[in-house]
Amino acid sequence: MRATTLTDVGSVEVQERDRPVPADDELLVQVGACGVCMTDFHMYHGSFAVETPLVLGHESAGTVAEVGRDVTGYETGDRVAINPTVPCNACTYCKRGETHLCENNTSIGGAADSVIDGAFAEYVRVPQTNVEEIGDMPFERAALAEPLACCLHGVGQVDCDPGDSVAIIGAGPIGLLLLQSFRNVGAAPIVVSELDEARRELAAELGADVVVDPAEADDPVTAIQEAAGGPVDVGVEAIGLVPTIEQANAVTAKGSSTLIFGVPDQDATMEISPFDVFFDEVGYRGSYSLTTEDFERAVTLLEHERIKADSLITDQISLEDLPTAFERMENGDGLKHVVIPDSE
Ligand SMILES: [Zn+2]
Ligand SMILES: [Zn+2]
Repeated sequence: MRATTLTDVGSVEVQERDRPVPADDELLVQVGACGVCMTDFHMYHGSFAVETPLVLGHESAGTVAEVGRDVTGYETGDRVAINPTVPCNACTYCKRGETHLCENNTSIGGAADSVIDGAFAEYVRVPQTNVEEIGDMPFERAALAEPLACCLHGVGQVDCDPGDSVAIIGAGPIGLLLLQSFRNVGAAPIVVSELDEARRELAAELGADVVVDPAEADDPVTAIQEAAGGPVDVGVEAIGLVPTIEQANAVTAKGSSTLIFGVPDQDATMEISPFDVFFDEVGYRGSYSLTTEDFERAVTLLEHERIKADSLITDQISLEDLPTAFERMENGDGLKHVVIPDSE
């Protein structure tokens, strides 16, 4: 089979590899689509170190091509989305249902202590407990189940009741999925701050009540608060940079939390005033990855079109095009890039 393999930092090659053989409790899935994510980008550039050679790709969906001997409930031809997070189900975190924090986490192509070959390939093997049936949903849409599940996890990390105001800083694919996820729980108004005009327009189309261009505003913090009618109940940073994390915190009301959702640099540090934490009861919440439950909910929402995913998919590319996708992502060109392994 053909697989796009990371061979070293900054180097990917389409290689001819043996088709994986599923273990007794696994499925072999013929990949229909696999989204490209900033995590792949970080692995490619070495800012998230992984052992090579490794097939990247953790946002995928496809067709069951083979079933392991002990698998029940799935057969060849079933269409499924793949949850890349394989928890150990034995550690304290797993037993509490916090499978994303598992101490012995393995990821199929994604970020974890242990990473196995992912889905920028014609085939990928996965435990049967890591798939959800998707009916006749297009594979490109189903491939968004993983990033959407991460966003649903983020919404669950902060108290957000119907009528709570939300500000989202950054309207890339993740910011736009977060926007729709917060809308689904009744947040209002939702203000989105984004530099790029096309992304601002799409945010408005997908349900943002007000969009703000931070480059146009004298002070983005004031502009966001004015748009929201005051300090917001939930401030969300969906970029991963310290200045915008501080901005998200600055727009957030007393007694509320700022959600750090964008992936910050591993070495980044920032100053916090303990007095403000004490006096204003403000704080930061993180949101990392997804639980098995988040994934199941994400597939359900996509199936019933409570999330509009198709307008986020701007680039359908072949296995060869991954480096080009990374370049385009670096320049902020397009939104979601999706690899279709059989397209040449
Ligand atoms: Zn991802
Ligand atoms: Zn565990």
